[in-house]
Amino acid sequence: MPKENGGLGILNLERFARALRLRWLWQEWVSPEKVWLGTKTPCDDIDGLLFAACTTITVGNGKRTSFWHSGWLQGRRTKDIAPSLFKISRPKNRTVAAALERHTWIRDIRRAGGLTLGHVQELLKLWGMLRSTQLQQNQEDQIIWKLTASGKYTAASAYKAQFLGNVKAKRAQAIWKAWAPPKCKFFAWLINQNRVWTSDRLQRRGWPHNPSCPLCRSAPETALHLMADCRFTRRVWSLIASWTAQPTLHPQLWMPSENTLQWCDSLQLSLLVIWEIWCERNARVFRRHETSAPGLFSKIKNEAAAWALAGAKDLESLIRRE
Ligand SMILES: [Zn+2]
Repeated sequence: MPKENGGLGILNLERFARALRLRWLWQEWVSPEKVWLGTKTPCDDIDGLLFAACTTITVGNGKRTSFWHSGWLQGRRTKDIAPSLFKISRPKNRTVAAALERHTWIRDIRRAGGLTLGHVQELLKLWGMLRSTQLQQNQEDQIIWKLTASGKYTAASAYKAQFLGNVKAKRAQAIWKAWAPPKCKFFAWLINQNRVWTSDRLQRRGWPHNPSCPLCRSAPETALHLMADCRFTRRVWSLIASWTAQPTLHPQLWMPSENTLQWCDSLQLSLLVIWEIWCERNARVFRRHETSAPGLFSKIKNEAAAWALAGAKDLESLIRRE
């Protein structure tokens, strides 16, 4: 996995295998004469989803495109647009041409168990989307691989595609580029991937652990709790928000998020704060030494000044306000 994509530059075999499997789906399209066609490809549903995301299909006569499985309807697979209808439709392998002919797709819906409200909603949605579809009898269906200049599949582009749009990965890239001591960057990378040895993870392995967060002693310790939800952490962040005159750093203004971290504009500041919080957590766990939130805040201020002197430019402009 390349560093800029959230890894340490090591090939991710699982994703590489997936990239290679997409070749089957590509061949199925571009070389329909291949003998193995009609046999089942080794691809799973995620392969299909990724393939749909990587390709643009322009339907002509609709004879090559699969009604349910191809990502032809505004770039999406019909089965993703109407998943519960897909479940009760037979057969599932009609082409677009066959499915649209005299609304065969509606007759394919097996209504034995009756339609639920969800089915009806999907039916109406699909009906609306299909209404504007006009088949062009004298044109073949076209497929373009979106990730190469040639418009053709390559294994390398299929591999890279699996890291695109990965917010975590974008952060990871930023982490490695930011000015900060390497130990802090490595720690931030770990916490961003939820790989730090917090109690919840120790517990899952059956290793010794404190059940509650050593900073507030009132909630289970997870990476997210420690870095964003904990009362103590929030107190520190709000002190920092006032100090740097950055209201967006104030925890009350944080957006609810599943991510481990809310990066503020200054990644350097974030790296510093989460590192110091982690050190405080470890001081409490391993050395039974406690610093109050204001105490940790002044420690962070001193440390920020040292980082700024050593070359952390963003941090320097933030703290120069004082
Ligand atoms: Zn806590």
